[in-house]
Amino acid sequence: MQRPVILIIDDSKLIAEFCRQILNPRGFHVIWSPDGLKGLEEAKRTNPDLILLDVIMPNFDGYKTLQKLKQTETTSDIPVIMLSSMAEAVDKIKGLELGAVDYITKPFDAGELIARVNTQLRLKRLHDELMEKTRKLSKMADRNGLTGLYNHRFFQEKLSEEFARAKRYGLPLSNILMDIDHFKKINDTYGHLVGDVILKGIGSMLKGSTRKGVDIPARYGGEEFAVILPHTELSRAIKVAERLRKAVAEHPFRTPSGHISITMSFGVAAIPHPEINDKQTLLKASDEALYRAKENGRNRVEAYL
Ligand code: GH3
Ligand code: MG
Ligand code: MG
Repeated sequence: MQRPVILIIDDSKLIAEFCRQILNPRGFHVIWSPDGLKGLEEAKRTNPDLILLDVIMPNFDGYKTLQKLKQTETTSDIPVIMLSSMAEAVDKIKGLELGAVDYITKPFDAGELIARVNTQLRLKRLHDELMEKTRKLSKMADRNGLTGLYNHRFFQEKLSEEFARAKRYGLPLSNILMDIDHFKKINDTYGHLVGDVILKGIGSMLKGSTRKGVDIPARYGGEEFAVILPHTELSRAIKVAERLRKAVAEHPFRTPSGHISITMSFGVAAIPHPEINDKQTLLKASDEALYRAKENGRNRVEAYL
């Protein structure tokens, strides 16, 4: 692990030296700025793990510095411990209200400084870990675990958004619904786990052959998938579906039971269309087209015209 960086902003060189002598041998890297403005620049430049901030400094005092630190996006999360000889409760409260995490009253001894610094660094680490986990979890919440594709709920949300956007700007929007042909037979023949491997394979295929950051490939249901294609008119979406159909039909999936060939049926619908005025109708139109693809012999693409 890297040495935690501690920035001391204090006009007293004596205090800065005192802190450095305590903290340096304990594995901290200490840097010093003699006034608030220089300290702000140093904080932006070095992104320290923690700041020790003197309250009383000429020109730009500790409270002003703290305010600026909290207003600046790149420095607002750095924990700040105030250093002051003002022991009045009202001074402490002011610092804490402005966003400081703790307060050390001068004169202080080595033990107190180390304990308070360590506590705040530990809290900061926990905070960062929690943020990272939350970020991962919220990303996972939009995804289907097996295939890594977007899940049904996310698909519905995005379709609403994209439909509204397309309407507002008069842009085309397509939706492809697809369903594995005779998948029950695959499960019956090879078992559910092999079926899962194939579903996963379709997930990878869909992720790999749709526009990243534009199209929205999703697991719609059990063995049904969907792709939202923004800015895409029907004729283009039919070509995309045809490409996907061929990719599935011509490339057997590798499974623990050997290579297995499958086919899928596709239903495509798009706006602008005189009968389609809401998201639900667009979905229904894709579903009707898919039904026709099944009726007409499977392994084919049908469009709602
Ligand atoms: P069709 O060509 O008409 O679509 O026939 P089908 O057999 O694919 O359709 P049906 O709706 O009769 O069966 C769907 C099958 O998909 C049955 C179900 O066990 C399987 N399935 C759904 N979800 C999963 C899953 O998560 N894993 C596996 N292995 N199978 C699934
Ligand atoms: Mg099926
Ligand atoms: Mg089905």
